[in-house]
Amino acid sequence: MKGIKLRRMLGMALLTATVVTAIPVMAFAEQTEQTGQTEQVGENTGEEESSTPSQETVITGPAVVITAGKAKLLSVTSADEKLKLKWKASGRVTGYVIYRKTSGTEYKKIKTIRDKDQLTYTDKHVTPLKTYRYKIVCFYKEDGKIYYGANSNPISCKVGIKVGTIKAFEVKAVKISLQLKWKKKGNVTGYFIYKKEKKGEYKRIAKVTEKKYLDEKVFLNKKYAYKVRPYLKKDGRVFFGEYTKGVSGKADVKAVKRKITDKNSGLYGKTVLTYEYNDGTMVSDPEKYLDKKDVSYVMYINKSRQMVTAYAQVDKCLVPVKVFICSPGNATPLGTFHLNLKYRWHELMGPCWGQYCSRITTDGVYFHSIFSSKPNDNKTMSVSAYNKLGTTCSHGCVRLQAYAAKWIYENCPIGTTVVIYNGSGYEPFKKPVIGKVPYWHTWDPTDDTAKYLCKEHKCH
Ligand SMILES: [Zn+2]
Repeated sequence: MKGIKLRRMLGMALLTATVVTAIPVMAFAEQTEQTGQTEQVGENTGEEESSTPSQETVITGPAVVITAGKAKLLSVTSADEKLKLKWKASGRVTGYVIYRKTSGTEYKKIKTIRDKDQLTYTDKHVTPLKTYRYKIVCFYKEDGKIYYGANSNPISCKVGIKVGTIKAFEVKAVKISLQLKWKKKGNVTGYFIYKKEKKGEYKRIAKVTEKKYLDEKVFLNKKYAYKVRPYLKKDGRVFFGEYTKGVSGKADVKAVKRKITDKNSGLYGKTVLTYEYNDGTMVSDPEKYLDKKDVSYVMYINKSRQMVTAYAQVDKCLVPVKVFICSPGNATPLGTFHLNLKYRWHELMGPCWGQYCSRITTDGVYFHSIFSSKPNDNKTMSVSAYNKLGTTCSHGCVRLQAYAAKWIYENCPIGTTVVIYNGSGYEPFKKPVIGKVPYWHTWDPTDDTAKYLCKEHKCH
């Protein structure tokens, strides 16, 4: 009580210093003592920079002490490349002065807070990964004079680093793979990709620097979930950002039935069943969706376009499974036929010899490989005939690459339906394009039994 009374007296004395003469000596003493540490709050801050707080505001003299309160620094935490200070204070407080230092330097005043109820401060002027040490000093203002409290405890904190974030993360099926794409905001060096199967845990599967990732290790019709986490490399260290939310995707194949209404198609009136990926492209190897044991094939030869399509018959639909380039002849008849004879090798008109012969008509129109000039000799293939594949140039047989003739020979038993037509309309597959072979390449590069020659010549 005594102290407060005295303080009031002092205050009055200070206010009226010029007119009041009977001021107790101790008041003057205090005034003198305080001068060095007195400042006008709100005055130019440059001056504040140089002032250092006293450990305690002590009034020497008989028992009159004015002491500003003391702050206790509670925490300094790093978030978003800023440091946040929290403190509490006790005693007489008008505001706070925040001091900061870095290793090997002196404390400098960085902020004066003139609100005793403000108990946090965010220091934005910091450098990532640098450590700062803080202390807080309370000040107390009365009668135009400022009294400083003792230093608070110091707390050091290292500034973290803000790793950029990921936006617009999406997973889309592209055939039998899943394409991950995203955008980024802020500083990112790269990304970690995490993947999860239905009931499993997320596992890291890749580290990329691009803003996309194609996961080809997926099964059809199976759902996978993904997360992406950005990272930032700085000073040889890796800092992790936030995970994205899990986004799932599935690569599936749909069976699409089409009734062919194109009158220019050899398939007019038929129903074609194709398997398509999510992006609408046709599965190129649909046979794996078919039950091999039950599959029977129908061969369609588009004579005018020199291509052969193999269809599997499924539920009264035709599933296109293979397409081959061929060379029919003008004499190739149109109509519906059934395979009726097979030869591994057979003498053809020429004389010449063909491999994998499957007879289409009873009067000698065959599917067969490009002919050889010597009996049963796959090293004497006619290069010019091979290079003419895709044109109409045979005597009536349907010439094929060796692998195609072999496929028909092995997969289309006697009795298999063969339809020969001229059609400019719908075909499920495009006509294949094949490379030509040089004059010395007297064997079919698709012939399994001549592969060793390509290997020797390092040509295919
Ligand atoms: Zn070759």
